[in-house]
Amino acid sequence: MNQTERIESDVLVIGGSGAGVMSAVAAAREGARVVLVSKGKVGKNGNAIMLGGSFGVDGQGARDVCGEAEANQEYTAESLFHKMVACGFGLGDQELQKQFVEEGPPAVKELLDWVKECGSTFVFAPKACRWRAGGVAFGSALRHGLTSHQEIEAYEDTIIADLLTSDGQVCGAIGFEVFTGRLLEFRAKSVILATGGWQPYELKNTNSDMTGDGIAMALRAGAKVKDMEFLLAIPTIQEPLYAKGSILPFQMTMPNIFPLRHKATDLDGEELVYSSDPRYKTNASNSKVKKLLYCAFYAPGMYAKWDRYGNRFYMDYSAYTDQEIRDGFKTFYQNQHWWHGKDRYHHIDLPKLAEEIIQNKKRLMCGFGNEYSMGGVVIDKDFGAGLPGLYAAGEVTAGVFGAFRSGDGLTEMLAHGRAAGKNAALYARQVRQLEPENTAQALDRLLAPTQRGQGVSPIEAWKKLESICEEGFGFIRDGQRLQKAYEQICELRASLEEMAAPGSRQYNLEWINSVLVRNLALCAEIGIRSALDRKESRGCHLRADEPQVDNQRYLFSWQAYLEEGQPVYEKAAPRAPYLPLDTKNYPSVLDCIADTILGG
Ligand SMILES: Cc1cc2nc3c(=O)[nH]c(=O)nc-3n(C[C@H](O)[C@H](O)[C@H](O)COP(=O)(O)OP(=O)(O)OC[C@H]3O[C@@H](n4cnc5c(N)ncnc54)[C@H](O)[C@@H]3O)c2cc1C
Repeated sequence: MNQTERIESDVLVIGGSGAGVMSAVAAAREGARVVLVSKGKVGKNGNAIMLGGSFGVDGQGARDVCGEAEANQEYTAESLFHKMVACGFGLGDQELQKQFVEEGPPAVKELLDWVKECGSTFVFAPKACRWRAGGVAFGSALRHGLTSHQEIEAYEDTIIADLLTSDGQVCGAIGFEVFTGRLLEFRAKSVILATGGWQPYELKNTNSDMTGDGIAMALRAGAKVKDMEFLLAIPTIQEPLYAKGSILPFQMTMPNIFPLRHKATDLDGEELVYSSDPRYKTNASNSKVKKLLYCAFYAPGMYAKWDRYGNRFYMDYSAYTDQEIRDGFKTFYQNQHWWHGKDRYHHIDLPKLAEEIIQNKKRLMCGFGNEYSMGGVVIDKDFGAGLPGLYAAGEVTAGVFGAFRSGDGLTEMLAHGRAAGKNAALYARQVRQLEPENTAQALDRLLAPTQRGQGVSPIEAWKKLESICEEGFGFIRDGQRLQKAYEQICELRASLEEMAAPGSRQYNLEWINSVLVRNLALCAEIGIRSALDRKESRGCHLRADEPQVDNQRYLFSWQAYLEEGQPVYEKAAPRAPYLPLDTKNYPSVLDCIADTILGG
């Protein structure tokens, strides 16, 4: 039975995490009838629940709007804006960055109220104007925010596969319930994409939601995407396997949380040198730059042995005694105890891990895992996604952070979610519900794998995709590997036309994966191609064969759209109405960071 059930609303929100909940609440506040659809349970899926660190706003906003009397007033809105512009390596959209700074405090305040109402604790760090928090507590607050608006209708464990359109205008979406396979047709006057980003690697530090669904469905509907080559990477556990994917190693680099300092080495024990040059000294308000510094400093040593060891290095604590290591983890736990079970960080048993590190010559095997994808759907200053009726907010979008995310993804999703929700509701007030033209086509595409008895396994295809990206599209790249990865991903994406997922639609994992891998492959193809054609290094795009930051030739975003299913690429100049763009060239990303971010 391929019959769909129809659900109508003024505003349809796709995504059940921060950007989704915030935009749904904001749209409801404007009087819109809102339906929210989430792949998993609201507040228990998406990247936000992975949070292991903090998020912040400027000092005045933290004090006057969020009520933190001790907030550092030297950390001004202006300095936050300047930092974001510099960290974007010129590619950030200054209008969106300005809105991030201005709209952050009221949106964070709304979240903090929910936190208080559900009895959780977020710990404010006054110097850096940041709230430290845990993912579960964050998720609970979001769930509380949504459920306190009973008028919002939520469809959980439901995957949206495609947008519905009428003459170029977006008027709904098609999806299905994960567990029953029931087909659902959502009709709405406006649609907000809040589906988060994408992680194409084998070493992943999040859950299975991050498949770039919103980016891919926006492309198929006629929208544009940009900056897909920029993926933020941070130290993440490779081994022990039970802890693989944890961002604990990055947390362990923070002196205020973990008292021991590591030495990084490759797998032969050769040091990966992090320069002690004072030009690379960070402070509380720009400590996020360290993420990029670790990548840039460790990249040459890891690249030299990539064929042998790939994305692996050690964080070495052999300078410390066994007891110092045990005590270090005790301190770490003390600094995190509000959000995790006794002696745990997320699911990891910290004393057990400490013993294993001691046994392993006091080393922890890590790699660079992908925390955030800077690229995504191109939006305007009203969060419109280029097609009438379509809006987007949060990590699914591009433009806020350019080539490197310096501000907080969590603040972005709250601030921009709120604004997108309001704008989508205002738009919905002015238009009538349209009759979609592409329902049958979208359903055919969705159901084709279930009608094929034999063919490509979506699960196997996904594994192949991850190994292609891990090998050729990692945090350190070169032209040769990118070229190979590009050829492989194009071949893989073509093969997905033959995916087979026979059997019932009830919790058919192959079928579910057929929807997701198709999206991830499209994102990966565009990301790899953009990286290949960016013959320089910039932000999180580090090329061993092209180390220079070439502002003369590459101060633009690679933007893509689809023509008959194939990506077409064009250059897009950054929008810079407030601060002039830096047109100087630099020998490397590290030199650019020293001059424009830390020293500038
Ligand atoms: C390990 C880790 C740690 C992080 N730590 C921090 C931190 O300390 N501070 C910080 O500021 N940021 C942090 N981030 C980044 C931050 O979590 C993200 O920027 C933020 O969660 C993005 O919010 P979002 O609402 O846009 O997307 P997400 O939180 O990723 O949510 C996306 C939502 O869309 C749903 N969805 C996706 N596709 C579909 C579909 N097809 N149909 C229906 N629903 C769909 C998902 O299920 C989910 O509900 C971290 C990220 C990771 C991975």
